[in-house]
Amino acid sequence: MNIMAKQPRRLESYVGGNWVAGAKEGVPLLDASTGVPVAFIDSSGIDFKQILAYGRDKGGPALRRMSFHERAAMLKALGPALLERKEEFYALSTATGATRADSWIDIEGGIGTLLSYASKGRRELPNARVLLDGDAEQLSKDQSFSAQHILSPLQGVAVHINAFNFPCWGMLEKVAPTLLAGVPAIVKPASQTAYLSELMVRRIIETGLLPEGALQLVCGSVGDLLDHVEGQDVVTFTGSAATGQRLKMYRAIIQNSVRFTMEADSLNAAVLGLDAAPGTEEFDLFVKEVTREMTVKAGQKCTAIRRVIAPRSYSEALIAALNDRLGKMAIGNPADETVRMGPLASLGQREEVRARIRDLATEAEIVGGDPDNPRVTSGDASAGAFLNPVLLYCDKPGSARAVHDVEAFGPVSTVMPYDTAEEAVDLARRGKGSLVASVFTNDPHFAEEVVLGLAPFHGRVMIGNRLSAKSSTGHGSPLPGLVHGGPGRAGGGEELGGIRGVKHYMQRTAVQGTPRLLSAVTGRWMDGADARVGSEHPFRKSLAELKVGDQLVTATRTVTLDDIEHFAHFTGDTFYAHMDEEAAKANPFFEGRVAHGYLIVSFAAGLFVDPAPGPVLANYGVDNLRFLTPVNPGDTLQVQLTCKEINPRINAEHGEVRWDCKVTNQLDAVVAQYDVLTMVAKTRE
Ligand code: NDP
Repeated sequence: MNIMAKQPRRLESYVGGNWVAGAKEGVPLLDASTGVPVAFIDSSGIDFKQILAYGRDKGGPALRRMSFHERAAMLKALGPALLERKEEFYALSTATGATRADSWIDIEGGIGTLLSYASKGRRELPNARVLLDGDAEQLSKDQSFSAQHILSPLQGVAVHINAFNFPCWGMLEKVAPTLLAGVPAIVKPASQTAYLSELMVRRIIETGLLPEGALQLVCGSVGDLLDHVEGQDVVTFTGSAATGQRLKMYRAIIQNSVRFTMEADSLNAAVLGLDAAPGTEEFDLFVKEVTREMTVKAGQKCTAIRRVIAPRSYSEALIAALNDRLGKMAIGNPADETVRMGPLASLGQREEVRARIRDLATEAEIVGGDPDNPRVTSGDASAGAFLNPVLLYCDKPGSARAVHDVEAFGPVSTVMPYDTAEEAVDLARRGKGSLVASVFTNDPHFAEEVVLGLAPFHGRVMIGNRLSAKSSTGHGSPLPGLVHGGPGRAGGGEELGGIRGVKHYMQRTAVQGTPRLLSAVTGRWMDGADARVGSEHPFRKSLAELKVGDQLVTATRTVTLDDIEHFAHFTGDTFYAHMDEEAAKANPFFEGRVAHGYLIVSFAAGLFVDPAPGPVLANYGVDNLRFLTPVNPGDTLQVQLTCKEINPRINAEHGEVRWDCKVTNQLDAVVAQYDVLTMVAKTRE
């Protein structure tokens, strides 16, 4: 299908394994700059109950048959396939009003997020189908009853209802963790810009990389879909607070305790430090950042700076500096490369923003930008949804309400003055919970007071200053590894945050039982479970032969004072506890000189290592190392090394093996406990 044909297309939904058009002709979607129809959208005729069932019955089982690493590999293959088609996405993105720079955030930012999840999936998750959460909890003295928290994929469908402003990123940032978790997704893009999401989903489906039913798309209304969601489903929503609250109240969502993640309006603040006077680098950085946040995507960004909180005595200079920059902004049709800010997504959206500016103007004066007569340098000013950046000033923000409450979803910000750091925090908190706040300061005391004051009300806080200016990702960029979402007014949801975002689509379960059966369930050996001591050293075994529970009990070694002296002088670690009998005795933890912890670890390695070349390729670290009982000269050490977890890599000739290492003394007291991490070949060859 030639998507780029000039004729407006009837968008199709991808449901039940087929592309289907709505039963009716549909509503026209207009190019934001020219007003010319780009597409028609309609979803009537779709059986929404059926598509939920299709996702649950077809996509879910197929995804759950794959391991985390297999799903990560699927995302990794998808990224380059989409990047190859990126120019096609950019070309269509212009119709949404996005400049090339805006589209970069949406298109390549979205694909980058997908790839970031692919990489995190391979590096931070096991090549398994179940995820262990934390350590085992011992529930009995004789180790006959323990517990382990596990996370397993929900067996329903994730319904993603997205906003119009990022048709690609908004979809991929949710789809990537969902698929990685092993849960199928149904994406419902906002109608206004659904043609771009539809194009991207077409290209995704064409790759054939996703199992059938893993991804469905509804272009247009989702009809009665939310009446049929069940307890294993998840609904995520990005958009207006009013719609979000309405959807959250759906009977099926409440009755079935369906997880509902909401990301709604957010009156994000940026605070200029008391130290950041005009003339400082922080002042200049602040001006740049506020300008950028007001104009990227024409301010239609959930993270955009809506409230500019600045020291009262700098406000005048700040407004002048912002107006200077904003006044030079080239506004127009983004098809023209000289344009720096495109139109809003639609004429309706512009009317909405103008109405919200009028609300704000009841408490604040407009100090920059005419909301009614757009200063357009390229394109037809009367046809497109163009709007000048509008700067307001509210002199008494402490007693105002609208400026903390009304989100004008466009290039609109309000400057509000403060006198003390406490007051700055108080003003920011009047947003009742936001996605992000930024603080521009070079003063550690100001940073501490303000950031700790803001943190409970925000999902992310960015500190900007001269040292991070070059490397900073900026106020407005949600990053795949960092939490995106905010409390209260911002919706109370949380997305991304690396692997945290994957867990939003999984159920945490505390599994209790005898260690032997818990090990069978989780694939991880634990104290009390069966162990096999064989004639062959486990380091001689490749992944093909090694089994969880294979164990080595070593010979013993007695630690002498000479060993401690030798180790101290050899390494240079002559800490008094190892060298000075009197001082060591005075220490409440010791009865005299003790062996270095690292000496114990080194002796342990000497006891358990099998030296000849073999399948064990490398030791890449230890986890959770604890020294539990002091070792005095004359104590005798012994090691119990047990294969705890095997994680074969896909597309590699090796895998990771985690060994439980327990070092005991002659009284059987555990002196050190840790996990040894090794790379082991898949075969002996
Ligand atoms: P809406 O809340 O109207 O729509 C958001 C999403 O919800 C869209 O996909 C929309 O679909 C869908 N939707 C609307 N009604 C229903 C329903 N009854 N059942 C199921 N889905 C529904 O927001 P808009 O996109 O129109 O934007 C309006 C305002 O929301 C903006 O002006 C801005 O203030 C805010 N907004 C906030 C964002 C944020 O991230 N904080 C992002 C975008 C917007 P459809 O498009 O088909 O109606």
